[in-house]
Amino acid sequence: MEKYLAYINGQWLGSESGDTMPSYNPFNQEVWAEIPKMSKNDVDTAIEAASKAFSEWKSLNGLERSKLMFRLADLIEENADKLALVESTDNGKVIRETKNQVRFSARNYRYFAGYADKLLGNTIPVDNKNLLDFTTQEPLGVCVLITAWNSPLPLLANKLAPALATGNTVVIKPSEQASISTLEFARLVDLAGFPPGVVNVVTGDGSTGGSLVEHPKVAKVSFTGGVSTAKVISRAVSDQLIPTTLELGGKSPNIIFDDASLDEAIVGAMAGIFGAAGQTCIAGSRLLVHRDVLDKVVTALVDRTEKIKLGNPLEESTEMGPVANEQQLNKIKGMIKQAIDEGAELLTGGLEDPVVDSDGYFVKPTIFYTEDPASLTIANEEVFGPVLVIIPFQDEMEAISIANDSDYGLAAGIWTRDIKKAHRVASKIEAGNIWINTYRTSQVGAPFGGIKFSGHGRERSWHALYDFTYTKNIMVNLSDDKRDPFSMQTK
Ligand code: NDP
Repeated sequence: MEKYLAYINGQWLGSESGDTMPSYNPFNQEVWAEIPKMSKNDVDTAIEAASKAFSEWKSLNGLERSKLMFRLADLIEENADKLALVESTDNGKVIRETKNQVRFSARNYRYFAGYADKLLGNTIPVDNKNLLDFTTQEPLGVCVLITAWNSPLPLLANKLAPALATGNTVVIKPSEQASISTLEFARLVDLAGFPPGVVNVVTGDGSTGGSLVEHPKVAKVSFTGGVSTAKVISRAVSDQLIPTTLELGGKSPNIIFDDASLDEAIVGAMAGIFGAAGQTCIAGSRLLVHRDVLDKVVTALVDRTEKIKLGNPLEESTEMGPVANEQQLNKIKGMIKQAIDEGAELLTGGLEDPVVDSDGYFVKPTIFYTEDPASLTIANEEVFGPVLVIIPFQDEMEAISIANDSDYGLAAGIWTRDIKKAHRVASKIEAGNIWINTYRTSQVGAPFGGIKFSGHGRERSWHALYDFTYTKNIMVNLSDDKRDPFSMQTK
């Protein structure tokens, strides 16, 4: 069993109490690693380190920050196989995806490294020509970055890359369910030569995260996780009135029109819900299908779903691994049972254990059908697992109405050959991310985030620079005119 330490102020530390936590391999339920379980005192140490490092880091010229970030990106690529192996061992995500995700993370650091010495303000046109007015973007200070277990490294890159480029220092808290890849990543941060205290990683459970977000020296919290935790965090930071970025879940509609290329749409539907065993915030978990192609879509989708190769996530041929932990397995099974009890029609999958040569946390890829989505919990609440609900529609307006009838607004897919219809529907759907004739494809230059219960703020792209800075306006008087102190007008 591997014993890992946290990374604070450039040093590898256990918790002050000596407490540790096990990390399970979801493919075989074995404890494969151990992490420190850190408490409030450890959190204080990490925040102090980040706070001390801030003034030097923000004053460093952008080129120096950029060089370190490029070096980090190189190191990520050089160590990609190791990072992917650790990620897949810890959370069960198939290695063919984690390898891609590690490469995407390196791309993310490079993208923002390019911004570190190009952080522009504006020159503001003014009415009074004796004044010069301009803005600068200033770092916020110590940022707490909290990530979920489904994709620790790419989720972290979405936050850390813009935070570092803009001159903030950070304390990272990965999920207790999958912390190891972040600790392996911290080795690369160390190797790249970042000054001590700029990047810190603490490990532990939800209470460790709670101590972090409540700390009075924290300037911002960027969080990826569930809605209920987001509400707890929002309440906790309300005393400090600090900004948050919240990347939460979804119940995203994936809409197949009757004029779509069905072969492509089936691939998109599969990617949307069975990629990463459905454990993605952008899961296309509601498949809206035009009634004229319903039979064809259902037949093809059920057929392909029943052929999904479940197995060891470390084997390249595996298409779906286990879900990440026992708690999640029980949640998914509970929601499948509830759907059956509430009257959803089960088309494939269900509660029966799949045939896999391991005692890992496996669940059968499952598809339900319903004519009455409002009556089903599974058609409205996020499962975060490989469970799809197919909902039929008759026309464009009905599709839009069903799509928008949700507490969430993270993503949506539209499958049609009609470009006018595609744009019409895209403009009416309430979500932060719309895909037309594709799904679950990411670009670091494209802003990502949600509305409603899917959260607020944007990651990736130049938008993220504004999430990690504040705008400072500077107004300069260029004249020697005498002024009336009570109106500040020229005498
Ligand atoms: P949780 O909300 O349970 O946990 C997320 C993170 O918050 C973990 O690191 C967790 O630590 C930590 N945490 C828990 N309690 C607190 C607290 N009181 N204060 C501060 N931090 C705390 O989510 P899951 O890990 O279960 O992840 C699944 C959720 O994440 C899904 O709802 C999914 O939709 C969402 N998600 C959203 C994404 C997006 O970009 N929009 C991407 C991926 C996932 P610990 O695990 O140690 O308890």
